[in-house]
Amino acid sequence: MRRPEAAGGRRMLNVPASAFPAPGSQQRAARGRRTKVPLKPGRSLMDWIRLTKSGKDLTGLKGRLIEVTEEELAKHNKTDDCWICIRGLVYNVTPYMEYHPGGEDELMKAAGADGTDLFDQVHRWVNYESMLKECLVGRMALKPIVLPKESTSALSEEKKCLNGMLPESKILGTSKTLAPSYDWFQTDCSVTVVVYTKQKDMNSELVILDYEDSRLRGEIIISDYSYLLNIELSNAVQEDIAVHVAEKVGKVEIVLKKKDNIPWKKLGQPLESHNSFIKHTDRGLYYRKCKLISKTEVTHDTKLFCLLLPQSTHFQIPVGQHVYLKQIVTGKEIVKPYTPVSCSLQTHFKEPSCHDGTCLFLMIKIYPSGLFSSELDHLQIGDYIYVSNPEGNFQKSQVQTLEDLFLLAAGTGFTPMVKLLNYVLTDVNSLRTVKLMFFNKTEDDILWRDQLEQLILQDKRFEAQFILSEPSKEWNGKRGKISSSLLSEFFKRSKQDSKVLICICGPAPFTEQGERFLKDLGYCKEEIHSFTA
Ligand code: FAD
Ligand code: NAD
Repeated sequence: MRRPEAAGGRRMLNVPASAFPAPGSQQRAARGRRTKVPLKPGRSLMDWIRLTKSGKDLTGLKGRLIEVTEEELAKHNKTDDCWICIRGLVYNVTPYMEYHPGGEDELMKAAGADGTDLFDQVHRWVNYESMLKECLVGRMALKPIVLPKESTSALSEEKKCLNGMLPESKILGTSKTLAPSYDWFQTDCSVTVVVYTKQKDMNSELVILDYEDSRLRGEIIISDYSYLLNIELSNAVQEDIAVHVAEKVGKVEIVLKKKDNIPWKKLGQPLESHNSFIKHTDRGLYYRKCKLISKTEVTHDTKLFCLLLPQSTHFQIPVGQHVYLKQIVTGKEIVKPYTPVSCSLQTHFKEPSCHDGTCLFLMIKIYPSGLFSSELDHLQIGDYIYVSNPEGNFQKSQVQTLEDLFLLAAGTGFTPMVKLLNYVLTDVNSLRTVKLMFFNKTEDDILWRDQLEQLILQDKRFEAQFILSEPSKEWNGKRGKISSSLLSEFFKRSKQDSKVLICICGPAPFTEQGERFLKDLGYCKEEIHSFTA
């Protein structure tokens, strides 16, 4: 998940260091020897761990994650309703109050605010992510970046640049030589913006382009960094924008068709963070409105949603990445991750062209009591939904020279396996075997079973095993839940010391157990990839 920090890395709600420890506080009195308050019986660390594993809803949000604004955070500042932000993530610590060894008062110092500095001074060594995992409410919403004073001159510099001079990017936190730069030129009927990325392995998956309300936004991903063009264009252009990537030289060309064939005096006005090059995780998520164009049944509770991207949007979903969908549900903005799939498992099957745009296919399970999915189910054809840029930490390089790929999927945890299967079976020449273990409750829950069975027949490198946790009496396949014996029985390398990767995706306990069993079976960390948010 991203750290919602402003460019330049400043946190938004820092508690001044001098405010902690407060004069006369337990911490100041007992420097280096933290005072603990006596806890009530039944409030030990073990009791807390037991409570977090009980499945009880500790956030009050039924497991959903939300984006929290500063105003919202500030409202939760009471002992019976206390949220705290640590490193950009917001936790509802109300249920933890009575278990906190430092007492309620210490926790309340950061109530409704950013407790990062406070936390770092007292507990830096504590694995709070794990301790408070079940209390996670979501992340802080991005705040507009206020440019520092000295950048006013940089801005006028920038304005000049947009008149046609080659600008230098605002290099934030990286070496100047690595930062991309851009230029533009025009003909009678077009304007071309050229970004020089200085990379030798550029590809179109790394370029995300949007044009909306005369604003051109182009983001280019370079390793852990993101370069942004964000300009209010000075003249109108047509919706069909072309993007060309010269992979070897790292040049990205954005070709805009002028609406009126008149010469442009300048490209436009720079908008927030224009021409900046910052850590990818520090860049806020960008959403565009996509239209639902079809909704088809996959199983009794899962549907394939087809969304049409705006004509002027260019992005591709890299293998193993997910997007965030955003909807307003009962007046609140809710965001949930979903992993786009290909429209079919047939590797030779070309994506159908959706009118004249790009489609995104999402396989989504509708939970009757699920806040977001049930709302999605109510969307009508023609309705719009916000879709973010793709995110995720899976790299194609992890599978490019692979010999054996083992896939462990449970329920909709099958979704990241779809593009991955298509990719390896088509593009990875070294591949010898792909084995999928697919865990579901019942036969009716198996997603794309027909297609999987067809693929087994079509490609002899591919094998699949279906394991049911709630099978009917008639089921004569494998039964049960993930276990060491099931894994060792099926996941056999094609040859000793073959290069192998095991990908896991499903409910969190499934993924955690899978990782543990595989480590016990002798697979190393680099041979296991878990898909998570
Ligand atoms: P919530 O309101 O969060 O839950 C309400 C109730 O629904 C729960 O009490 C429970 O009864 C039921 N419920 C919700 N989630 C579960 C669950 N996991 N297991 C059992 N019962 C549950 N989902 C997809 O369908 N397709 C995807 O492609 C997909 N991709 C994902 C990618 C990532 C990286 C992650 C982290 C999750 C992904 N999910 C996917 C899950 C998705 O983000 C939501 O968690 C899911 O749609 C439930 O959200 P909800 O708001 O409908 O349910
Ligand atoms: P489900 O409840 O239908 O369960 C499917 C199977 O998972 C079960 O038959 C069982 O074998 C196994 N399972 C379930 N709970 C388990 C547990 N506690 N311990 C061990 N095994 C367990 O699954 P679903 O409703 O389809 O949920 C799929 C999950 O996958 C969701 O939690 C979703 O968030 C997650 N998901 C994650 C990603 C990602 O990229 N991280 C993508 C898609 C889905």
